[in-house]
Formats: sequence, C-alpha cells, structure tokens
Amino acid sequence: MNPTIEALLVLQARDLRVAELSEAQEEAPRQIAAVERELAAKNAQFSELKQRTRQIEADRKKLDLEVKTKEAAIARYRAQQLATRKNEEFAALIHEIEHAQAEIAKLEDSELELMEAYDKGLAAVAAGEKELAQVEAKAKEKKAALQKRGEAAAAELKTALIQQADAEQKVPEEVLSRYRRILKSKGDKAVVAVEHGSCTGCHMKLTTQTANSARREDLLAACDNCGRLLYAD
Ligand SMILES: [Zn+2]
Repeated sequence: MNPTIEALLVLQARDLRVAELSEAQEEAPRQIAAVERELAAKNAQFSELKQRTRQIEADRKKLDLEVKTKEAAIARYRAQQLATRKNEEFAALIHEIEHAQAEIAKLEDSELELMEAYDKGLAAVAAGEKELAQVEAKAKEKKAALQKRGEAAAAELKTALIQQADAEQKVPEEVLSRYRRILKSKGDKAVVAVEHGSCTGCHMKLTTQTANSARREDLLAACDNCGRLLYAD
C-alpha cells in the first residue's frame, strides 16, 4: 500500500478516537446538568405539594374561626332573649339563632371535607418525601458515575492526543493540510477504500483510471465526485 495512505489511515483512526473521547468528555457535564435539572423539578413539585397541603389546613382554621364567631353571636342572641319582654323581638332572635346554627352546620361540613383533604395531603407529602429521597440518592449515584466517565475520557484523551500528534508527524506536510481540509468539509472520513470500482465515501462509480490510480504507490488518487483520498487493497 502507498506509504502515505498507510500513514493517513493511522492518523484517521487516531483522529476518530480523539473526536470520540472529546465528545465523551463534553457529554458528561451535559448529562450531569440534565440530572440536576430533573432533580430540581422534582423538588419544586414536592414544595408545591407541601404548600398546597399547608393551605388546606389554613383554610380549615379560617372556617373554624368563623364557627366560633357565630357561636359567640348565638350566645349574645340568647342573652338578649333573656333580657327582652317583647314577643316580636324574641321571635326575631329565634330566627337569628336558627340562621346562625344552619350556617355553623354548613361550615362544619366544609371543615370535615377539608380535614379529609388535609389527611390525604399529609399522606401524599409523606410518600413524596420518601420518593424524593430515593430520587436524590439515585441522582447522586448517577452524577458520580457520569463524573467518573468524564474523568476517564479526559485521561484517555490526553494519551490519544499524543498518539494523534505522533501520527501527524508521519504524514508529509502538504498531504496533511489536504487531508485536514477534506476531513473538515466531509466530517467523517478523508481517506476511503475503493470497493467494486466505487468510492466508499460517496458511493459513486469511479472511472477506471481513478480506480487504477488508487492502487498505485507513487501517487495519491482522489474521488472525482467527493474529493476524498482513495486507496485500494
Ligand atoms: Zn467519493
């Protein structure tokens, strides 16, 4: 095989390794951030549930206060009944007392409903607390594993970069800049094999002359369509 192609294939493999490790190194903090966002959302959800439950109890206490106010009013009406001698006034007070009693009954019904809702809320808060603790523990584990993965990729990348530089030195300078240019524009590979007379980079049929050139050791052949450097075993 053309020794320049051979050197380029080694470089291409090492370039790929560097790209993979760089991606892995950058991916770790991105995934850690995603885990943190998920956890923050769970925390917010839980705070909201706690707040809603506290509000139910606050609402019930308000109703309770209204009941007490109405009870005090009834006591006042009864005292007035004892003091009055007018039948008309007495009857009006009976009416007031009955009205207040009916309202108290309604308030107490609402209080009962709120008590039930509060109990349900407390149970949900307890369950949510447990779930949150589990989610937090899992997130911590996940973050530690991601951190480790990122650090491993960073360490491997250091070695890979040295190997990449080493491979670059074995490629003639003008070929290297051409290779880099092609790689940058194609994104995947700059050096590809010829298979069944076609370029394996763009899959176009090559001319017989180009396919033959790909077998030569004294020149570099390139695909007429995509410009990638070619080799044939
Ligand atoms: Zn091609």
